[in-house]
Amino acid sequence: MIDFLAHCRSIVGDAFVLDSSADMAPFLTDWRGRFTGKALAVLRPASVDQVAALVRACAQWRVALVPQGGNTGLVLGSVPDAGGGAVVLSLARLNQIRLVDPVNRTMTVDAGCILQQVQEAAAAAGCMFPLSLAAEGSCTIGGNLSTNAGGTAVLRYGNTRELCLGLEVVTPQGEIWSGLRGLRKDNTGYDLRDLFIGAEGTLGVITGAVLKLYPQPKASITALAALPSPAHALQLLTLMQDHCGSSLTGFELMSRYCLELVAQQFPSLPKPFAAPHPQYVLLELSSSESEQHAVGLLEQAIGAALERDVISDAVVATSVAQSAGLWQLREHIPLAQAKAGKNIKHDISLPVSSIADFIAATGPLLDAAFPGCQLVCFGHLGDGNLHYNVAPPDGISNEDFLLNQDKVNRVVHDSVAGFGGSISAEHGIGALKRDELAHYKSAVELNMMRAIKAALDPLGIMNPGKIL
Ligand SMILES: Cc1cc2nc3c(=O)[nH]c(=O)nc-3n(C[C@H](O)[C@H](O)[C@H](O)COP(=O)(O)OP(=O)(O)OC[C@H]3O[C@@H](n4cnc5c(N)ncnc54)[C@H](O)[C@@H]3O)c2cc1C
Repeated sequence: MIDFLAHCRSIVGDAFVLDSSADMAPFLTDWRGRFTGKALAVLRPASVDQVAALVRACAQWRVALVPQGGNTGLVLGSVPDAGGGAVVLSLARLNQIRLVDPVNRTMTVDAGCILQQVQEAAAAAGCMFPLSLAAEGSCTIGGNLSTNAGGTAVLRYGNTRELCLGLEVVTPQGEIWSGLRGLRKDNTGYDLRDLFIGAEGTLGVITGAVLKLYPQPKASITALAALPSPAHALQLLTLMQDHCGSSLTGFELMSRYCLELVAQQFPSLPKPFAAPHPQYVLLELSSSESEQHAVGLLEQAIGAALERDVISDAVVATSVAQSAGLWQLREHIPLAQAKAGKNIKHDISLPVSSIADFIAATGPLLDAAFPGCQLVCFGHLGDGNLHYNVAPPDGISNEDFLLNQDKVNRVVHDSVAGFGGSISAEHGIGALKRDELAHYKSAVELNMMRAIKAALDPLGIMNPGKIL
């Protein structure tokens, strides 16, 4: 393998082939600190041509490669396995905004651009790129595309897939496919772009993308509503959609336990209500007209919800700082969980209408199997997406509880399947959920996926062991 690494050095230069343990360490452990893999080296190309040359070298030497953006993925997709025979291909140095076209409402970016950098470049051109998630200061657009990330604005703008018009990809053979088209209509055969989005680096390396831009809303307003139950949250969703239409841009459910965890771990964050409530919904409304319009819509809808006993109480943010404070409560739930200890995570999606029934049915099943376990249940209710995490009962260590991971997954995922849902809503499959995918997908679906993988990557060098 010395010759292989020399080949890589000849492509990117000595400084950008990292092979000491210390230099490679940040690239080998996943964000949650649950797994550390091994690699021959970390390769850090600075151009699309360098990516293509490195992939050709990997194909020639039969070395597997793991594409990596910000390494914030939550399903062990971006780190290599423990074998030590693969390389990590970091896209971080491909970080240029190539073109902003406000008339076509598109921007063309390198895959290694940080999401926040993309949002800021759109704003500088008077537009908005609506993808938003708590990891936006570190995750890259290539990673967002490869996981088809969701985030907090899916209700109005869709997942990353819906925000992308074109891609540039280096194929597993090291060819460059330039599909950087800024077209909203293009029916010219199979949609190759859609194959690479959500493929988690198993079919090729995304090096660039054409992204959709939107007008910046004139005003956004945030409120936190307190409710007796998830069923009330569904009633509130229907009421808000009827009253506010597409102005409703965020609808996030959080249980009482979630906000208690945030208060314990981050005591300086706001505590909007004097007394606790069983459930909360964080609402965001955006208006293309004015702040007055947004406030009017929200006040009318909240008034109707209070009148019909759909909600028990509500706090409306009256300043940008208050609005940010309410969003911080939502965004700090994963961070509070990480500080509190390890838990067994599920990123599930369900038909929106089934969510309350799912929550009502699944809690008792878990409690019967693991008495006293704690549910950290929150998520993008408007998209039918719950983060349904199970923490150990008091007195049981994280390590002991994690030994039950397979059994806990089976209870939760069987229930999800029973309600017609999906075992991965927005985080992907990676290595973490590969066996679960095999358990729940039909043979027909798995065979089609395997056929696509074999056709595009016959040597099996692209992120092996992930998804399939
Ligand atoms: C605090 C926190 C909050 C989060 N919130 C959300 C959320 O609300 N919604 C949501 O959907 N996700 C969320 N995530 C997870 C989300 O998947 C990632 O944040 C993000 O989309 C991954 O981007 P990344 O650049 O870090 O990718 P990485 O973690 O580096 O990689 C993710 C996967 O994509 C592949 N990949 C990366 N770049 C490329 C490329 N250029 N070409 C081909 N394959 C590539 C990798 O091989 C891997 O399989 C959150 C994560 C954290 C840590």
